[in-house]
Amino acid sequence: MTDYLIIGQGLAGSLLSHFLIKKGNTVAFVDNSHKGASSAIAAGIINPITGRHYVKSWKTDELLPVAFRTYEELSAIVGQQIFYPKNVTMLFRDAETANNWLARSAEPALEGYIAPNFDLENYRKYFGESVCAGVEFQKSGRCDMPGFIVAWKKYLKDHHYQYLEEAFDYNALEIGEESVVYKGISAKKLIFCEGAAAERNPFFSHLHYKPAKGEMLLVRIPGYNLNDKLAKDGIFIVPLDNELYWVGSSYNRDFENSEPTELEYNNLVKELSEMLKIPFTVEQHFAAIRPTVRDRKPYLGPHPKFPLLFIFNGLGAKGSSLGPFYAEHFADYLEGVTALDKEVAISRLKPLK
Ligand SMILES: Cc1cc2nc3c(=O)[nH]c(=O)nc-3n(C[C@H](O)[C@H](O)[C@H](O)COP(=O)(O)OP(=O)(O)OC[C@H]3O[C@@H](n4cnc5c(N)ncnc54)[C@H](O)[C@@H]3O)c2cc1C
Repeated sequence: MTDYLIIGQGLAGSLLSHFLIKKGNTVAFVDNSHKGASSAIAAGIINPITGRHYVKSWKTDELLPVAFRTYEELSAIVGQQIFYPKNVTMLFRDAETANNWLARSAEPALEGYIAPNFDLENYRKYFGESVCAGVEFQKSGRCDMPGFIVAWKKYLKDHHYQYLEEAFDYNALEIGEESVVYKGISAKKLIFCEGAAAERNPFFSHLHYKPAKGEMLLVRIPGYNLNDKLAKDGIFIVPLDNELYWVGSSYNRDFENSEPTELEYNNLVKELSEMLKIPFTVEQHFAAIRPTVRDRKPYLGPHPKFPLLFIFNGLGAKGSSLGPFYAEHFADYLEGVTALDKEVAISRLKPLK
């Protein structure tokens, strides 16, 4: 019998399994080949200061050390770099935004997050003279989520953990007192980590979800030389490899399906054309649904009636920073080491009417 059966091997399921394995457990997976996985197309940016008002993200001081440590650990395990430390640059084109930032920049909470020596001329070469100011944040970077989930799947298979590549059939789950059985796999506990697809999970349909679709482009930009920065000027330009950049993204609560749309393709191309003063070519266009929830805090906890079933979800638009901290916390909880943090426990939610 396996200790944990995990449904969904995106960032959430992968990180959780890492911490469970570290504690000496066995895991088994069911995953439908990352179909529609948000982790498969995310930029994976960790940006400590976000939003229009440049505030430090929720629990940043606690989350980031765990994230950096975990990605380093995982890089060593899979033998591939998973996290790329890079400054996040915010560019300003109007005096009002620049002044708003200036007013906030002296706040004690931001100390240590603002990189010294911002070089405006370096950015104007690519973004034009209308950029009037900017700031670089440090303690930031990019988690290669797509690379990690592929490498982690290989690691699981190489280490002979059971891995069923198929869509999970909820009707085929047998729930007993001491264990669950799914298509011949017996497990002591089952954790659902299905990302935005959790909305269709009949066991956790009572939770509130507020998914947000995101679309992005893979773009070739010859001669763009800011490869140690994640530059934002409306949208992000994220260096990947050899003149190839991740550009995006859109954020839509109102959508029909998870397919890329012509509308967002055109919007992204327009935004990038307005930002960049050098030519680029679009290579690919992708879309996925972020597992966002109403209060933007993760969803962790047991099923109210079936104590062997659990959920780990709600990483939203910030999986790279929230994921490691809460995967470790949830593994501790599942192993009886700690109580569940009430701020992220699904018991905080009122039932849907
Ligand atoms: C365009 C875009 C940009 C983003 N950029 C960032 C960013 O810069 N920084 C950041 O931190 N976050 C970013 N995110 C958010 C990030 O992708 C998520 O926080 C994170 O990937 C969520 O991971 P997850 O494992 O919960 O979900 P997913 O990655 O969606 O994984 C769920 C897994 O479960 C599988 N699955 C689902 N249902 C079933 C089923 N019934 N049977 C079998 N398998 C199933 C899926 O195939 C998938 O492999 C972005 C998202 C998008 C869409």
